[in-house]
Amino acid sequence: MTQNPPDFPLRALFEAQHAASRAQVDVPLALRRDRLARLRDLIETHAEALSEAVEADFGVRSRSLTEAADLFVLRAGMAQLHKELPRWMKRQRVRTPFYLLPARGYLQPQPLGVVGVIGPWNYPLQLTLGPAATALAAGNRVMLKPSELTPQSSALMASLVRQTFAADEFCVIQGGSDVAQAFSQLPFDHLFFTGSTQVGRQVAAAAAVNLTPTTLELGGKSPCIIDASCDLHDAAIKIAHGKLLNAGQTCIAPDYVMLPKGMEPAFETAYWAAVAKLFPSIEGNPDYASIVSERHHARLLALVDEACKQGARVSGWDVSPANGSTRRQMAPALVFDVPPGARLMTEEIFGPVLPVLSYIDLDEAIAAINARPRPLALYWFGREDAHRDKVLMRTVSGGVSVNDTLMHVAHEQLPFGGVGESGWGAYHGKAGFLRFTQQKPVLVQSRFAMGHLFYPPYGARFTRV
Ligand code: NAD
Repeated sequence: MTQNPPDFPLRALFEAQHAASRAQVDVPLALRRDRLARLRDLIETHAEALSEAVEADFGVRSRSLTEAADLFVLRAGMAQLHKELPRWMKRQRVRTPFYLLPARGYLQPQPLGVVGVIGPWNYPLQLTLGPAATALAAGNRVMLKPSELTPQSSALMASLVRQTFAADEFCVIQGGSDVAQAFSQLPFDHLFFTGSTQVGRQVAAAAAVNLTPTTLELGGKSPCIIDASCDLHDAAIKIAHGKLLNAGQTCIAPDYVMLPKGMEPAFETAYWAAVAKLFPSIEGNPDYASIVSERHHARLLALVDEACKQGARVSGWDVSPANGSTRRQMAPALVFDVPPGARLMTEEIFGPVLPVLSYIDLDEAIAAINARPRPLALYWFGREDAHRDKVLMRTVSGGVSVNDTLMHVAHEQLPFGGVGESGWGAYHGKAGFLRFTQQKPVLVQSRFAMGHLFYPPYGARFTRV
């Protein structure tokens, strides 16, 4: 694994970025667009090499998957930033209350200064360069710390960024959790973290010491509710896609399904038909990603094994070479009758294993969701609008897709983020720009201001009669 040398100047890099951000507070549109253009060119010129690096990091992960799930999303986000920046950078007039007239008030967007970004391994390009691009567009300097679990793509990003940007503009820091810990202790103007809830707590605690504001994009167990009114075949293929994209290693993958009691056999049949359509084979299929490491693979096998020992029934479970192979391509599984205390129902799964729970009435399903930490995403499938509205109005989640999975993340006008234990703060589109921007309120007084009416001595001026 590529490591920074022991005398790695983390602090010196931060100081250089900090000094530069204070020396140039007003970052003009042309410079912001130039930084975005350099980043876009870097991605375009090296798209193939970046995808190859991700493939090497995972073992198996087709370049098409990285194109669709990392690079396509990155390009779309950067194109929107380029287009909308002039509008978003403009000061925004606000209405002034009558007692302050004829003063004027406006909001002046300004860069925050230095933004730290800590990224995960599951979409190692989109979830690192995406927030970095938004922070640069908002006029900030950026220090990025990608995951040590994807060392090849992290090293390539570090080298390409070094060739393209001055270190006090944008730099990539490589290293493990020790480096990440030191990184999160830097007094950034904003720290943007994507990763697990467990590490998110540590990041929030480290940032609090410096009063550094954070965005925490965390994980959790995202439920998928099937209504009796749904088109089961349509639901099954969308759930299978959402669950098996990147072999379930997606923060908003449906973590478990809840369906009306009695629908289990029909769902089981429809799900396997959908899986066969999407992935005619598992082992060796480049579209079906590997589990990222031996440790993660072993954990997933143990989760299913433990649930089975506690009485769960596994459908499609395959302990043939596909599960144990060096490629770590883990076959998909449905798990029925999972005891509530099993780790499959207490931990985020983050793999191609889907517990299926049954409910008798909708209130019971809603209560079960509300008894858990608030999820990052919630999915609902059906045609009964009253049921849909009941679920949406009585549950709280980071985001929702109705009659689909994952897709709300791709809608660039919808902010993306968690709530409660799935995180705080949202980004994408304008929400991202604002996340990395100080919207400075300014009041401009008029020569004809009536402010003196508020000066003492008050006499009887404010006395109610
Ligand atoms: P992780 O929390 O283990 O690691 C994320 C990053 O944190 C890595 O770069 C790591 O080096 C760094 N890190 C480790 N220890 C640290 C510490 N003490 N202080 C600061 N940084 C530290 O997460 P992961 O395994 O890379 O990613 C999987 C998790 O991320 C899942 O829970 C998933 O749901 C979540 N996730 C969330 C989103 C989202 O947008 N909400 C997106 C992708 C992944």
